[in-house]
Amino acid sequence: MARLEDHREIQHTSRMLVLSQVSKRYGGTEALTATDIQVSNGETLVLIGPSGCGKSTLLRLIAGLVQPDSGTITFEGSAVTPASILLARRRMGYVIQEGGLFPHLNVRENVTVMARYLRRDAAWIDGRLAELAQLVRLPQELMTRFPAELSGGQRQRVSLMRALMLDPDLLLLDEPLGALDPMIRYQLQQELKTIFAELGKTVVLVTHDIAEAAFFGQTLVLMRDGRIVQTGSFRDLARNPAEAFVEEFISAQREPMAQLAAALG
Ligand code: ADP
Repeated sequence: MARLEDHREIQHTSRMLVLSQVSKRYGGTEALTATDIQVSNGETLVLIGPSGCGKSTLLRLIAGLVQPDSGTITFEGSAVTPASILLARRRMGYVIQEGGLFPHLNVRENVTVMARYLRRDAAWIDGRLAELAQLVRLPQELMTRFPAELSGGQRQRVSLMRALMLDPDLLLLDEPLGALDPMIRYQLQQELKTIFAELGKTVVLVTHDIAEAAFFGQTLVLMRDGRIVQTGSFRDLARNPAEAFVEEFISAQREPMAQLAAALG
C-alpha cells in the first residue's frame, strides 16, 4: 500500500507540461500576457474565465496550432518547437469546440483517421475502436453514421474517442460539453470524470462554467483579459479570492442557482 502511494506521489511531482512566460498577440489584441502554467502527470487542470479571456488561445498554443510570440512550452521534458510539434502532437488528444468532426467521414473513419494515416495494423485499429466505443458507451451500430446523423451527445463521445485513439499522454479539451443540453451534459460530465480517473490521463480542460470547473478540476486557472487572475482549487478561489473579480465571477454564476432555490422555497 505504501509503495502504491509512493508511486502516486512520484507521478504527481513530475511535470508533464510547463509554460514559461508564454505570450500571444493578434494584431492589437493581447490574447495572452506572459503566462506561467505547470501541469503535473495525472492532473486535471481547468482553464476558466469569461469569453475572450484567452482560454482557447492557451490551449491552441499547447497543441502547437499557434506559435507563442515569447516564452517557452515544455512537454514531457522537451521544448515544443515548430520542428518538434508534429511528433509531440501524437501524444496529445485534442477536442476542439463543437467536436470538430469531419462531416464527410463516418464515425469509424473519423475516429481512426490518424491511426490509418500512421499505417497502424488494421486488427489493432478495430480492437481499439471497439474498446473506445465501450469506454464512452457508444453503440456499435453508430459506427457507419455521419456526424450529421448523430445527437450532440453522441458527437461529443465520438470526438473523445478520436482524441483517445492513439492513447495520448495529454488530453486537451476545449468546452467539450459546451453545446449540450443540461441533462446530457450532466451525464457526460460524470462519465468523463470516471474516464479520466480510469485512464489516469493528464487533462487540460476549458470551460466558462464554474460548476463544471469545480467538478473536474483539482486545479482551476481563472483568467481575465489574457492573464491569470488566480490559480488554485475551487475552495481556494471561493474562500480566498485574489481580487474582487474572482468573487464577482463565482457569484455571477451562483446567483441564478440561488434565485432558483429561493423560487422553490
Ligand atoms: P476564450 O477562449 O477565452 O473565449 P480566445 O482565446 O478565443 O478566448 O480569445 C482571446 C482573445 O484573442 C480575444 O480577444 C479574441 O478575439 C482574440 N483572438 C483569438 N483568436 C484570434 C485570431 N485568430 N485572430 C485575431 N484575434 C483572435
